[in-house]
Amino acid sequence: MSSNPYGLPIQTSLQELRQSIHADSNKAMVKLSAIIPGIQLDIKYAGTANIFYEQLYARPHAYVRLPVAKALAAVQQELREMGLALKIYDAYRPYSVTCRMFERLPDTIYMGLPRTGSKHNRGIALDLTLINLKTGKELEMPTPFDALVYASHPNFQQLPEQVIRNRETLKSIMQKHGFEVDPVEWWHYNYSAGKNYELMDIDPDLFEQLR
Ligand SMILES: [Zn+2]
Repeated sequence: MSSNPYGLPIQTSLQELRQSIHADSNKAMVKLSAIIPGIQLDIKYAGTANIFYEQLYARPHAYVRLPVAKALAAVQQELREMGLALKIYDAYRPYSVTCRMFERLPDTIYMGLPRTGSKHNRGIALDLTLINLKTGKELEMPTPFDALVYASHPNFQQLPEQVIRNRETLKSIMQKHGFEVDPVEWWHYNYSAGKNYELMDIDPDLFEQLR
């Protein structure tokens, strides 16, 4: 495995990933739309309408590790009974994109650091929100995605009651299925059992070849 300037081990080839999947099938990278048919994707970094004003992905994609995908499928199932569904803003993110983001916005509170890598780079983090199943509209949340303000903190309370309820609905159902909310971003969830997953800097277009 190659390592970055900080000595961090990073998988950079499909071959390395394939080998680790052979050793542990949970490391498989799963396309969310394959395991959760009809899931709404709004991959912000595949366009320029994001805080970087830059298209960071060649095309929209949403991959996570196998157990993360299964847990998210259970979340979606339970939401359906409540007339709700998930909308995904981001999932797996190549390590080089995290570095590019930090270059553009060297913020040590909100940004994934090149020194440690982001859990997005490990395929165990998701940025998401809730939508109304019937209308397809997003539920009102404290801030837009990627707003780097106090109101984005999941414990921020100076909000309309309904907004707090929406945020708590998302949080409680995600927690129930093994996800933890980020301390400063209400939309970011880490899969809590996601230990020992390598950082990757692999083009997600290549993941199709894993099957
Ligand atoms: Zn995130």
